[in-house]
Amino acid sequence: MPLTKSRGIVVFNPIRMAEKKLEFSYEEFTHSSQLNTTDAALLTQAREITAQAYAPYSNFHVGAVALLENGELVVGTNQENASYPVGICAERVLLGSAATIHPNVPIVAMAISYNSKEVKSDHPISPCGMCRQALLEYETRTEKPIKIILSGQKGKVFIINTAFNLLPFAFTKKELK
Ligand SMILES: [Zn+2]
Repeated sequence: MPLTKSRGIVVFNPIRMAEKKLEFSYEEFTHSSQLNTTDAALLTQAREITAQAYAPYSNFHVGAVALLENGELVVGTNQENASYPVGICAERVLLGSAATIHPNVPIVAMAISYNSKEVKSDHPISPCGMCRQALLEYETRTEKPIKIILSGQKGKVFIINTAFNLLPFAFTKKELK
């Protein structure tokens, strides 16, 4: 039976708790040459499109490229603003474009890379919390998991098979109805 401390006194907690564990698997590659042709091409484009980012304040240039189920590609880069909170991440630029240009078409895979004058771009970075929420919403509305490919300009590559894994205990539309 678990113990709880109350005002310095150790007491028995009569309510039994259950310890739960969440875990997920992802793939790690040491180099992009180990990816399949499609994933490698997406990552190459994500690395290149970082050059289109507008990031004069952070100097952190992010590029995202998505392959849609209809075979089309959609890209996004981060767009900063002198009023910092106005800035938007590459992933959400991409999702907004995809949903507008190709309504309700699932995203099969999205590669995300970055480049920076301040830090080495030699390891994967993952989407911020707000983008994880947006990615999950896209998965939910199109009812298809998005494969997420993460890497810097070089080095390791992570592949995560669904954005759902990036946001445990997510708040979704199920809570609203
Ligand atoms: Zn973000």
